[in-house]
Amino acid sequence: MALHLAIFGRQGAGKGTQSQRIVDAYGVVHVSTGDMLRAAIAAGTQLGLAAQKIMDAGGLVDDNTMIGIVSDRLAESDIVDRGVLLDGFPRTPAQADELVRILGERSIDAAVNLEVSVEEVTARMLERGRDDDTEAAIAKRLGLYESQTRPLLDWFDERGLLRQVDGLGGEDDVFARVKTALDACIAGVEVGEGDNGE
Ligand code: AMP
Repeated sequence: MALHLAIFGRQGAGKGTQSQRIVDAYGVVHVSTGDMLRAAIAAGTQLGLAAQKIMDAGGLVDDNTMIGIVSDRLAESDIVDRGVLLDGFPRTPAQADELVRILGERSIDAAVNLEVSVEEVTARMLERGRDDDTEAAIAKRLGLYESQTRPLLDWFDERGLLRQVDGLGGEDDVFARVKTALDACIAGVEVGEGDNGE
């Protein structure tokens, strides 16, 4: 059966880089809702026009819009055949509920949370200096992550579907931890404290 994977982590934790490595290693299709929204902005679509202001301010695009985009994408044949890495979705309880409704209780086979502190991700984002990375927008995104997205991690954790991964260090080192964690999660094996970067 095609694998369903997910990656969580604060903005600036390195999800984009690690997602690329996961996609290469597991052959799944990368679905980044942030990338989809940025593509809509670049194309000047109605969705892009509506999303831009929200994204610049560090807010969240509404659940119905996001659920519509993702459920259409998940039904496409490449994902049905090859499976998926979800990056940036689900981000709210409503989105998680919908994912379970579409895909069932085993909506996700394995997920990792890239753990990088608030101080570290803030420094990284200010350093990369993107237009939408103002201090106010960064603070808002981090706050929404704690209030909306972090509670979802418990749902996956309680079902044994989530592993914590230390996101500090070089790309290769972090990916080695990510892969160990995903493999153990897929196999349904508990990883000891020493093995998952804690
Ligand atoms: P990301 O690249 O995942 O950090 O997403 C960039 C921005 O796109 C976020 O700050 C949100 O404004 C918006 N966004 C991405 N994914 C979602 C989602 N699942 N729900 C709501 N807004 C989203």
